[in-house]
Amino acid sequence: MSERRPFLAGNWKMNLTVAEAEEYIASLLPRVSGAEGVDVAVCVPFTALAAMVDSTRGSRVQVYAQTMHEATHGAFTGEVSAPMLTELGVHGVVLGHSERRQVFGETDRALAEKLPAALAAGLQPILCVGETEEERERDETERKLRHQVWEGLQDLAPDQVARVAIAYEPIWAIGTGQVATPEQVQEAAAFVRALVGDKVPEAADTVRVLYGGSVKPDNAGELLALPDVDGALVGGASLDAGDFAAMVNAARRAPA
Ligand code: PEP
Repeated sequence: MSERRPFLAGNWKMNLTVAEAEEYIASLLPRVSGAEGVDVAVCVPFTALAAMVDSTRGSRVQVYAQTMHEATHGAFTGEVSAPMLTELGVHGVVLGHSERRQVFGETDRALAEKLPAALAAGLQPILCVGETEEERERDETERKLRHQVWEGLQDLAPDQVARVAIAYEPIWAIGTGQVATPEQVQEAAAFVRALVGDKVPEAADTVRVLYGGSVKPDNAGELLALPDVDGALVGGASLDAGDFAAMVNAARRAPA
């Protein structure tokens, strides 16, 4: 049995100005300082990255971006590259969030290039995958997850695969308050882990699989205790520093 460190990431989406972010982080840091053994990240808008890197220095909280471009530089107006993020001291990046895929047309092909670009620059990627409500109803959840996981990981060297955290985020559970059942989460997380194992057998036991979709303090403990769930990507509920800290501390208590 491998030692997979629990990982709690808060996705702020397009929320919090720099001033609001400073207030938030000042409230969060003391609340999570005792969360030994838990990796904690805040995924913040580009505008707040530098300030958050500064304010979290020396703490257990890491700072992630919410997206990046696959190229290192070039004529891509409005985009930000992996080296630009590492220059700021950013630790990681969320890739393929369903809002990026659905609203901004992010493709699996682009993601296959973003993952190696992120790792090459020294960023820890979180790859998001998940089915729509219609796909679940049509019993196409596994087909969708297989496609997204294999496409996303296809250009990685075997030793890079386990460095990607994969967030299973059923789209119907994101921001809806409709959390997936523990059975659904466990089944999908185990399936994602098996897909990674099909590509690189030794990575199956070490890759971290997170769940995302309406995680809150009152359901976090149960979800984080599932055998194939190593943490959570939390959207709306992470905007309250007290609630996010409660979930981080629940990860500390959940049995490995
Ligand atoms: C997310 O944005 O990745 C997410 C899971 O959102 P929420 O927790 O609000 O459902």
